[in-house]
Amino acid sequence: MKKKISLISQRPSRAEAEQAVRTLIEWIGENPEREGVRETPRRVVKAFEEYFSGYSQNAAEILAKTFTEVGGYDGPVLVKNLAVESRCEHHLAPFVGRAHIAYVPDGRVVGLSKLSRLVGVYASRMQTQERLTAEIADALDKYLKPKGVAVFIEAEHFCMKVRGVSEDHAMTVTTRFLGSYKKDSAAREDFLKMVRG
Ligand SMILES: [Zn+2]
Repeated sequence: MKKKISLISQRPSRAEAEQAVRTLIEWIGENPEREGVRETPRRVVKAFEEYFSGYSQNAAEILAKTFTEVGGYDGPVLVKNLAVESRCEHHLAPFVGRAHIAYVPDGRVVGLSKLSRLVGVYASRMQTQERLTAEIADALDKYLKPKGVAVFIEAEHFCMKVRGVSEDHAMTVTTRFLGSYKKDSAAREDFLKMVRG
């Protein structure tokens, strides 16, 4: 019998991961020695490294550098249409869409590209859209300490599109509001108007 694998202490080797893909290929009834398929285990493991690169990154590092010279700007900062590409933890099927993130600075701001990287850190893991939304908002709240945070994600889930219920056009929307956005419904309305506008 094979020993139990714990994610943290004993990661399987690359060869073991490739063997696992080969096993799946055999299990579906395909011939893993066929020319077009022979290199597939190697390619799939390499793709997995990209899909799940978020496990080796952390939000604290990305949000470590902030700027205090904002010229007295105290309005919200909204970045719209950030690409979301993640994988559902239930089927490993992709879900893809857009994230819209706003925060109200409390004397310091973060480079705009960092918001895109922040989405990537959490999206490049096995996820649910709900948790992805919460983790992005909570990280901004924790490391940037703004007055408020709003996160809006809309995404299509391929596990719904191409299997099961075959919902081709269903769009899942999740939101999380913290601080001033949680307290102030007018701020939430403004945010939603800007996201849709
Ligand atoms: Zn799924």
